[in-house]
Amino acid sequence: PVQIEMSNVDKRFGNNVTAVQGMSLQIREGEFVSFLGPSGCGKSTALKMISGLLSVSSGAISVNGHPAGQSIDGSDVGYVFQEATLMPWATVFDNVYLPLKLQGLSRKEAGPRVREALDMVGLAKFSASYPRQLSGGMKMRVSIARAMVTKPKLLLMDEPFAALDEMTRFKLNNDVLDLWKSQGLTVIFVTHSVFESVYLSSRVIVMAARPGRVVHDIPLPGGYPRT
Ligand code: ADP
Ligand code: ADP
Repeated sequence: PVQIEMSNVDKRFGNNVTAVQGMSLQIREGEFVSFLGPSGCGKSTALKMISGLLSVSSGAISVNGHPAGQSIDGSDVGYVFQEATLMPWATVFDNVYLPLKLQGLSRKEAGPRVREALDMVGLAKFSASYPRQLSGGMKMRVSIARAMVTKPKLLLMDEPFAALDEMTRFKLNNDVLDLWKSQGLTVIFVTHSVFESVYLSSRVIVMAARPGRVVHDIPLPGGYPRT
């Protein structure tokens, strides 16, 4: 079934910048889609509109049958930013607990789910560590655990590994593929790396700048072994 539908979406900032123009797209449940394009082509803006972090200027977006950002339970969308954006004063556990805390769960109630999410990214043993004690790759995995702790159906990732070295990045790419396969997720992965988009996704949405728009929508059957 269709999970995300964008119909003729525009986003303007002020009078001069058209960050996204006429974007129409349907994404089915379970797809791994990448948004590929140069800096400034509107990839982040599109992702933020899908998550509801930004409103559309015109057009419409529906996610899981609700207008973007207005689902009954906002936790059905997980978002991973370019920087790990962890709270430096809080432990790994507390960083991952945050979304559940916002839902009103006590630390105790949330415990098993936080541990499960940390397990998923291989960091169960680092629950009591602070972000400064972790490598860049580990911090990024904590931020993926935080996005996954609410068990979202949709995971949005905005150039999540851009700041990491290539080896770490490659390892994390494989981690994300494992997560996608094991959790039955829909993933939208924003990147300006052709390699990353082709390696990871089963469909590449190519965007161009000024104005930001979709120029190709390329299915990649058989790119990566998929079951
Ligand atoms: P990408 O993620 O592809 O690099 P963005 O979505 O961040 O592109 O930006 C698309 C365009 O919109 C760029 O020209 C950018 O400068 C502009 N833009 C993004 N956010 C804002 C904002 N808050 N105010 C004004 N212009 C913005
Ligand atoms: P980087 O981004 O610096 O490459 P990695 O995620 O590759 O970070 O981890 C760097 C080091 O951190 C590893 O060599 C290992 O010593 C330690 N490390 C990372 N993940 C774990 C883990 N799950 N268990 C134990 N040690 C780990």
